[in-house]
Amino acid sequence: MTVALLGGLRAAVGAAHVLTEGDLSAYELDWRQRYRGRALAVVRPGSTLEVAQVVRTCAAHGAAIVAQGGNTGLVGGSVPDASGTQVLLNLARMNRIRATDAANLTMTVEAGCVLQAVQEAAAAHGLLYPLSLAAEGSCTVGGNLATNAGGTQVLRFGNARELCLGLEVVTALGEVWHGLSGLRKDNTGYDLRDLFIGSEGTLGIITAATLKLHPQPVAVTTAMASLATLADAVALLQLAQARLGAGLTGFEVMQRHALALVRKHFAQLAQPLPEAEWTVLLEQSDSESEAHARDGFEALLETALERGVISDAAVASSQAQSAAMWQLRESIPLAQSAEGLNIKHDIALPISAIPAFVASTDAALQQAFPGARLVNFGHLGDGNLHYNVQAPAAGDAAAFLRDCEPAVNALVFDAVAAHGGSISAEHGIGALKREALAARKSPVALQMMRAIKLALDPQGLMNPGRVL
Ligand code: FAD
Ligand code: ZN
Repeated sequence: MTVALLGGLRAAVGAAHVLTEGDLSAYELDWRQRYRGRALAVVRPGSTLEVAQVVRTCAAHGAAIVAQGGNTGLVGGSVPDASGTQVLLNLARMNRIRATDAANLTMTVEAGCVLQAVQEAAAAHGLLYPLSLAAEGSCTVGGNLATNAGGTQVLRFGNARELCLGLEVVTALGEVWHGLSGLRKDNTGYDLRDLFIGSEGTLGIITAATLKLHPQPVAVTTAMASLATLADAVALLQLAQARLGAGLTGFEVMQRHALALVRKHFAQLAQPLPEAEWTVLLEQSDSESEAHARDGFEALLETALERGVISDAAVASSQAQSAAMWQLRESIPLAQSAEGLNIKHDIALPISAIPAFVASTDAALQQAFPGARLVNFGHLGDGNLHYNVQAPAAGDAAAFLRDCEPAVNALVFDAVAAHGGSISAEHGIGALKREALAARKSPVALQMMRAIKLALDPQGLMNPGRVL
């Protein structure tokens, strides 16, 4: 049976694009190196019709399919399990930009396009594709949509869902749904596009998408501010939104310990402000000029200083300084990895609830796990915290994770629920949070999700064991 399946896959995409030997760890090991699987074969289709043929072949043989883009996902959903029976479908070869419609502000691209390439293609037309995240040099449009990725611009432009107008999908039955539409309004029944966005490869294979573009701003500039409390950061956010309106395109928060790790592991990166309990990174996009944007920041930060909301601030005076500020923020996850094993949380909360959530949850964690270090940072502008827990500085980090991770997660997820939040803001469920989802999502919601899964993937071959 395996021989016939492999033969069918080779017939579908060509023998050169069915990999079964050699070092396949780039496909089989996830980015965090927490999930290592083994694929029956890595299949690299070059077109939608080839994807459809692969899916039909797998369906005929009852073989499960794991879709993969850039393999940068953080919840263990993009690699095969250890059984050696799953087909890993990597879409990297499908990386064409099919069309750009500048007047309609849309671009139609294949699922394997790397996010940064899409940003650059939009910029070449004087347009902006605003989705932006630290993995943008490797992650793909298909992966962004399958996980409904967020990133740093969500407070202004929304997440991947809000930046997608249409999809082309190969269904679990191997049919092609031609849903590529550049329409901003289309009320013709159930929204199938929104069903596939965020489905993490469990309902079908996204092969192309029509993306929503925006005008390119004339100037993008940043500032940083020091604050004593998280409540001050929420107050600064309100003030910045009132003053800058839609010009505010980024609002990131970093707790003292997060930036201290960057100081320790990336000492070469200059930090424009002295250590503070909280630091905020603001980004402004301006349709007039860089000087105009800087004036806006100066006025805003002066008011914030006068009101005692911030204690210090620095406005970037060049593109290089703006980039350096972003580099500090984006180095936090890397500094955390360099420091050692840690427990990651990607949580969403009502912004108004964040100060109380952090105060009570920090205290509860310190009491239950003395010495555990909280590395708290994230996209405060949209209510998303990366509320991570690093093992105590002294001691065995692997043992801490083994012994304490379930209890740490339970404590944090209970607190999230008590404050009206979500246990996954932007990374998805994958394998990592499947059990937590089953335990915490309402039975009615889970029942509807299972019904959808059964209707669209009756054989259960699309990324089984993930999400549900
Ligand atoms: P993969 O990792 O290959 O796959 C992710 C999931 O999507 C898997 O379940 C997979 O089966 C499915 N999938 C992939 N392609 C398809 C397809 N064509 N059709 C159907 N299903 C598919 N995420 C954020 O939201 N915000 C951030 O700020 C952010 N920062 C990150 C920073 C770093 C350094 C890293 C490593 C990751 C970060 N992420 C962030 C995680 C984020 O989910 C991914 O970077 C990205 O969206 C995944 O794209 P990918 O192409 O790598 O997908
Ligand atoms: Zn994030």
